[in-house]
Amino acid sequence: MDIEEMIKQAKQVAKNAWIPYADYMVGTVLVTANGKVYTGCNIQNKGIQAICSERVAFAKAISDGERAFKSILIIGKKSKDKFYKETLPCGYCREFMSEFCKPDFEIYTYDEEKNEVKKYTLQELLPHTFVF
Ligand SMILES: [Zn+2]
Repeated sequence: MDIEEMIKQAKQVAKNAWIPYADYMVGTVLVTANGKVYTGCNIQNKGIQAICSERVAFAKAISDGERAFKSILIIGKKSKDKFYKETLPCGYCREFMSEFCKPDFEIYTYDEEKNEVKKYTLQELLPHTFVF
């Protein structure tokens, strides 16, 4: 799946975000090592149990038995904003990814106004992970 298609699917799923408490809609497209695609949107909650779009996509994939992943693309914006802006995974999601992804796992962001895609690796965004 190319980046353009990932952006298209991320925009589609971001429309499903449940964001009554903080206006920021996020869409994620996760690609497994064998090319399967899972999407996710963020789901807020009046408690503290909100779940980010990235972990929604991972939860869908992992519950289908997937265990190896290639890349993820994340987009986000306020609902009234015209353009999606660069949206990076939160610290919790980075740690969550490190459970299932290798250091070279690809993390893509998208700035729609600049039409700019940035590529990071998990290693770059989480250089020192929790180990016990
Ligand atoms: Zn997160």
